[in-house]
Amino acid sequence: MLSLYGWIWLIPIIERIMPLKGQQLIRPGIINDLIHTYHRVHLWSMLNAALVSWLVAYSLNHGEQGPYLRGALINAHWSVNVIAVLVFGHVTFYAAHLACHKVPLLWQFHRVHHSSVKLDSFSTSRFHIIDKTLFATPYLMLVTYFQPDPGIVFLFVSFNDFWGRYGHGNIRDPHWLGYVMSNPKFHRWHHSNHPDAIDKNFSAEFNFLDWIFGTAYYPKEEIPENFGSEEYSNNIIVQHYQPFLDCYRIVKNDGWMALLRKPKTSPVKQQPVTGN
Ligand SMILES: [Zn+2]
Ligand SMILES: [Zn+2]
Repeated sequence: MLSLYGWIWLIPIIERIMPLKGQQLIRPGIINDLIHTYHRVHLWSMLNAALVSWLVAYSLNHGEQGPYLRGALINAHWSVNVIAVLVFGHVTFYAAHLACHKVPLLWQFHRVHHSSVKLDSFSTSRFHIIDKTLFATPYLMLVTYFQPDPGIVFLFVSFNDFWGRYGHGNIRDPHWLGYVMSNPKFHRWHHSNHPDAIDKNFSAEFNFLDWIFGTAYYPKEEIPENFGSEEYSNNIIVQHYQPFLDCYRIVKNDGWMALLRKPKTSPVKQQPVTGN
């Protein structure tokens, strides 16, 4: 609710006041992204509700400390909870996001998010339901297992939602911030088609894993531009069945194993999309 009726309309105002690059509010795909934004509760709930139900059942049966650090954060100091919740969020998002770019099967679903030709805070919600669930799963499993303070988890999820919108925003902020956080310029490089920026900047909030593992791309003087794919549909319905067609095409052309690793000769990410 904070997101849908709060900062979702606050961040576009900031985008008007201090834009990274001049851009109109009404741009290609805006209707699609608004539908993604306001329907996401219903769409995501189908798979996420099943996942959360399973996790709730697990935590009801294992709601105390046990072997292998199960419930290790019960009664831990709040500062330990904060650090753990942030680290869980950063590590799981980075790992899941890296996999989404490296494994062709996952990329077909994740490329929906990367299809935006013009980026602003409304692009944040453009996700395939399966992709979004895959991102949430490892985090929810860790939280259920280690059982940190639910209030701190709620604060993190709210912060994560706010920062996701801010990070996709067309906003100019201090360059130094990108050395610590995935700010708009840092994340826009992730969406950029610039050859040096491909498969870079996987972080969502803090970005120390990108700097540690050498996947950060953050030049000081340049501004990222040229995003997404003109050929990919701006229709939310097509965006939800297109990945299945693309997977089918890959299997038909290159076999099942091509879903798990990229063929050396024809990178999957550069295949043209047809049948939109
Ligand atoms: Zn990505
Ligand atoms: Zn993004």
